[in-house]
Amino acid sequence: MLSGFATCPGLFYATPAEDGILSRIRIPGGIINSHQCRAIADIAEQHGGSYVDVTNRANLQVREIRTGINAEVLKHLQDMRLGSRNTVVDHIRNIMTSPTAGIDPQELIDTRPFVQSWDNYIAAHPALSALSAKFSVCFDGGGIVQVCDRLNDIAFAAVLVDSNVYFRLYLSVGAKGQPPSDMGILLPPEECLPVLEALANVYLAHSHTTSKLRLRELLNTLGCENYLQEVQQRLSFPIFYSGTREYLTPPEKGEEFSLQREGKYQHIGIHPQRQQGLFYIGVVLPLGRLESRQIRGLADLATKYGSGTLRLTPWQNLLLTDIPQQWVGDVQSEIAFLGLDSSATNIKSALVACSGKKGCAASATDTKSHALALAKYLETRVTLEHPVNIHFSGCEKSCAQHNKSDITVLGVSIEAENGTVEGYHVYVGDSKQKFGRELYKYVTFAELPVLIERMLYVYKIQRLNFNESFGEFANRYAIAQLHQLFNNNPIQNLKSKIECPTTFEMPTKYTVIPLQSSGQKQT
Ligand code: SF4
Repeated sequence: MLSGFATCPGLFYATPAEDGILSRIRIPGGIINSHQCRAIADIAEQHGGSYVDVTNRANLQVREIRTGINAEVLKHLQDMRLGSRNTVVDHIRNIMTSPTAGIDPQELIDTRPFVQSWDNYIAAHPALSALSAKFSVCFDGGGIVQVCDRLNDIAFAAVLVDSNVYFRLYLSVGAKGQPPSDMGILLPPEECLPVLEALANVYLAHSHTTSKLRLRELLNTLGCENYLQEVQQRLSFPIFYSGTREYLTPPEKGEEFSLQREGKYQHIGIHPQRQQGLFYIGVVLPLGRLESRQIRGLADLATKYGSGTLRLTPWQNLLLTDIPQQWVGDVQSEIAFLGLDSSATNIKSALVACSGKKGCAASATDTKSHALALAKYLETRVTLEHPVNIHFSGCEKSCAQHNKSDITVLGVSIEAENGTVEGYHVYVGDSKQKFGRELYKYVTFAELPVLIERMLYVYKIQRLNFNESFGEFANRYAIAQLHQLFNNNPIQNLKSKIECPTTFEMPTKYTVIPLQSSGQKQT
């Protein structure tokens, strides 16, 4: 049987949710093979809701479990390397790396061996269970598809210095929700894991006296310098690399994460691999969800056309890899036959929602259903040249990680004439603020689709060029100016100014009503 509940779910630490028990299967680096996919499809069908969700750390979640998973099945999953061989550390956060590690034509270093080694280290060191289960580590190989700006306690990001590859060290410090900060330290690849071990052990030493502190909280009280000095004492080599000073200057306080590269959704669609003649295909999973028949179908495609490997992404999508060029078209057709899409301009490719009312008691709104309804509404009305990130959260806890979104909507209850209705506060751009800048308050869900449609049309007209993201466009204007742009432009007028899909029709279900910018009380 599942062995009790914990605040952070794992395969052996199931968590109760509104829709049943939730079990999270850790997939280090998000790399999974077709046999493991089929085993998970079986579990989802026999014990859960016949679907799985890919999470924003590239885990897989089985939801709606009612009958429990017995010890024999858990052992089978362990044997298939779908659960840690050491159950007490199975719920520690998944190790993150780029989903294109080892196949990215521009990466500086393949990070898969680092992920594997650190996963082995965790399994061999049960003492790490004394750390917060949210202890999180990331390795970024410096390729096109970056993960170094994701929220992690510790991030190693590959850079090239004087033709040599190093990892820069970033640690989580400061306010909650901020990306990790540059420590001004360069590490040769071979020093990365010993330093990580020392970082974890110093964290552990302090955790014995102060229970389950997040690393960020420890650093905020201890100070980064003191922490790193203690780390240094545990190492036989100096971690303060003395050469190439220009690479060692930490960014100014509050400065944007310095290693950001463009194009986090560049993994969707067809892309050449570093291995000549092979391609990977990024598949859009609507809000990360896959029905069990789709998991099996994708596993079959991976076996038939590729190397039997699939990769889950922190953006809740999936890659099929190692496809020879001559089969790419066939694989795309078969993906479509499974009811999935592989187009980067699909609005769902950058749509994120937290569990919402159906899965979480804290939620004010049914985020997932609303997000899918919004995507359905926009799909035939707005054509995007590149993805716009729209994040739905049911409460301020922000499990949907808003700091990287273009548009954030935060669930609230709104008092209306006929009782309480579900709605959202709307935020745009500016990744330095938790949700972005507040644009509208108390927008009912009935108003939201037309409002977002209007915002997207204005963006398409006003952006500086095709590469300017919605967030960058919004950041160029004061909120009052954005109100003017969005409120004073009926969709009919906007439509005449840009190229529209021929299928465009004016909405009949929703009326464009004046939007409140403040004032109503949350219930
Ligand atoms: S953001 Fe809030 S409502 Fe959504 S899953 Fe997290 S805690 Fe629940």
